[in-house]
Amino acid sequence: MILRARHVLPIAGPPIPNGAILLQGSRIAAVGSWPDLAASAPAAAPVIDYGDALLLPGLVNAHCHLDYTDMAGLLAPTREFPDWIKTIMAAKGAWSDADFHRSWLRGASQLLATGTTSAANIESLPAAFSLLRPQSPVRIHSFLEITGVRVQRDPAQILADAESTLQSAPPAPGAVGLSPHAPYSTVPELLRLAAQSARRRGWRLTTHLAESRAEFDMFMYRRGSMFEWLESQRACSDCGQGSPIRHAARHDLLGPDFLAVHVNYLWDGDARLLADSWSSVVHCPRSHSYFRHQHFPATELAAAGVNLCLGTDSLASTRASGPFPPTLSLFDEMAELASRDNTLPPAEILTRATLNGARALGHGDLLGALEPGRLADITVIPGRASGAHIEDLAIHHSGSVLATWIGGRCVWHQPGVAPAQQAVA
Ligand SMILES: [Zn+2]
Repeated sequence: MILRARHVLPIAGPPIPNGAILLQGSRIAAVGSWPDLAASAPAAAPVIDYGDALLLPGLVNAHCHLDYTDMAGLLAPTREFPDWIKTIMAAKGAWSDADFHRSWLRGASQLLATGTTSAANIESLPAAFSLLRPQSPVRIHSFLEITGVRVQRDPAQILADAESTLQSAPPAPGAVGLSPHAPYSTVPELLRLAAQSARRRGWRLTTHLAESRAEFDMFMYRRGSMFEWLESQRACSDCGQGSPIRHAARHDLLGPDFLAVHVNYLWDGDARLLADSWSSVVHCPRSHSYFRHQHFPATELAAAGVNLCLGTDSLASTRASGPFPPTLSLFDEMAELASRDNTLPPAEILTRATLNGARALGHGDLLGALEPGRLADITVIPGRASGAHIEDLAIHHSGSVLATWIGGRCVWHQPGVAPAQQAVA
C-alpha cells in the first residue's frame, strides 16, 4: 500500500514535495518522492492519492483527561487555583458513571478525528478504564490517578489497589502507568512508593507538577491559598522545603520514564534537575491560557536540554476559541502555542506534538516520525503550500483531519473523503 499527497512532513527530515509513503503491514517501508517510490514499489501496489494534502506522523498527546471531555465550557476559571479544584470536584460529584463513560469515549473519538494516534491519559475511573480503552484504536497510555489526601488511606494500601487494577487490565493499544495526581494532593510516601512500583514493573509515571503559583508557594514558602486550604487536611511537614520540582526529585519521581505536566513555576536549578534526570515536560497551551499562569519557561527548559512535548489537558480547563465548543485537538494546542510565541519555528512546534511526545512515552524510535521501520501512524490534513509555509500550514490546521492511520490501518476518515485507490502503473 502506498499513501501519496502533495507534501509529506516526515519530522525526521525536511518536507518532501510530491511525496509518498510505502506501508508494509503495520510499518513504514519507505518514505520519499512519488516518482522514486512508484519506480521501486512492488508491482500493482495499491495507491491512495490524497491530492492536495499533507501526510504527517500521527500526533502524540502527552497529557489529557478523556473522562472530562463533556465538561467542555462548563467551568469558569477562578482567581485562585484551589477554588478551581473545588469547582471540578463538585462537578465530578454530580456525574454518574455513565456520564464519565460517555465523556471518555467522546474524548477518544475526538482524538481520532483530529489526528492523534497516541495519548497519555489520566484515568480517574479505576473500575471502568480497562473496559473503555480497548474500544478505541488510539494507543492510549493509561495512567491511573492516585491521590492520598482526601481519602486519608494508608499509602501502601492505595498503591496495592492501583497495582492490582493495572495488572488486571486487559491488553489494549498503548500501555499502563501510574499518576500520583500532584504534590499537594499526595503525601511523600505515596510518591516514593509509586515511583518504586512503576520502575519495578516498567510502567511510566506522570504527575501535575509546579502548575500554579499557589502550589509553588505551598512547597517553597508554606504559604498561600493552597497551603491554607490543605493545612488542616494533610501533614504539611513537606512544605517550606523547596520548589515543587525539588519536592518531586527528593521523593524519586524524576527519571527518563517521568512526564512532568505543566511545570510553569521554576526555581533556580529546577530546569537542570529535570534535564539531568531525562524527565520530559508536557506543556498544555490552552489550559495554560485558561488559568492565566505566568509565562511557560520554555526557553529555560529547552536551554537545559529538557524534552518538551504537548498535551491538551482536559476540556474542563479549555476555553472555546470560536462559536463551537473546544475539542481535544493537538492542532488547536499548536496554534495556541504559535500565537503566544511567534519566535518559535513551526517545525519545533510540530516536533513537540509528535516525536518529543513519542520519546516521553518511551517510543522515540517507533513513533512520532515518518521513517522506514517505524510504525505507520499517519495523519492526513488538507492543504497546499510551498517552502517553509508547509509547516505553518500544518500547525494552523483546524477541525477534523482527512484521515488517521494507526499501525498501517485507516482507522478514521472524513465522511465522503474515502479516496479512490489505484494500482501503481
Ligand atoms: Zn491534567
